[in-house]
Amino acid sequence: MASQRPGFPVRLTPTASAATRGRTSAVPAKPIVVQAAPSMASEAIRARMVQRLAAQGISDPRVRRAMSAVERHRFVDSALVNQAYEDTSLPIGLGQTISKPSVVARMIELLLGAPALVNKPADKLGRVLEIGTGCGYQAAVLSHVASEVYSIERLRGLHERARANLRPFRLATVHLLLGDGMVGFAKGAPYAGIIAAAGGEAVPDTWLAQLAVGGRIVAPTQSATGGQALVVIDKTARGVDRRVLEAVHFVPLKSGIA
Ligand code: SAH
Repeated sequence: MASQRPGFPVRLTPTASAATRGRTSAVPAKPIVVQAAPSMASEAIRARMVQRLAAQGISDPRVRRAMSAVERHRFVDSALVNQAYEDTSLPIGLGQTISKPSVVARMIELLLGAPALVNKPADKLGRVLEIGTGCGYQAAVLSHVASEVYSIERLRGLHERARANLRPFRLATVHLLLGDGMVGFAKGAPYAGIIAAAGGEAVPDTWLAQLAVGGRIVAPTQSATGGQALVVIDKTARGVDRRVLEAVHFVPLKSGIA
């Protein structure tokens, strides 16, 4: 389902009424060209987005670099391109959403805090499993901080869209899978990190089983008050540590393929 995407930002063609409104002279209105060099323009806008993320407390340079590298506007519908770098979730079709940049950055920063990396703060993570590929944006960001990314999506339409979105990036370390992420992906296990973009009642046992010792799970789960909260689960040689963090709003984790 590859759709034709405009460059970024969108070049606006002025309409006669907008361009000449209130003018009495015959001087032609200057065309409203937002930016002539799309890639440089989006780079500058991403740099500003990363500055805002830094102001919100994202301090890991690996996360900041990854967030500045990935062109988020390539993952959203053409009508939403100009909102791509706002801190907002956006619809990606089939009732699903791309998470807001601050949430993606926060969760990846948490993932990089895995026990195995405690004394290696500059290292990449090993293999990572993402549940909920959606449009593929977070998988692309993860590819900058992990050696391999396995990303599962249960909706065929989105799995295919993510494939099309990611193709131009030629990310050899990102593996897209169509399947039910509730059961993880045993063939790629054990994982240094597991990150979920959809929230269930609890973290499935299979994820814990597929996590390496020293690895970390970051996932939204139902909180005691009925909402959702981010949960961080560390698997250590001594056992499992579980921490509940801030409230979040994710689409529901559902079983089966559709
Ligand atoms: N990380 C995504 C966000 C996608 S929204 C991005 O960057 O765009 C969450 C996605 O999780 C949805 O596409 C939804 O279909 C998917 N999902 C929900 N339950 C799932 C499951 N059991 N297995 C795989 N994907 C699931």
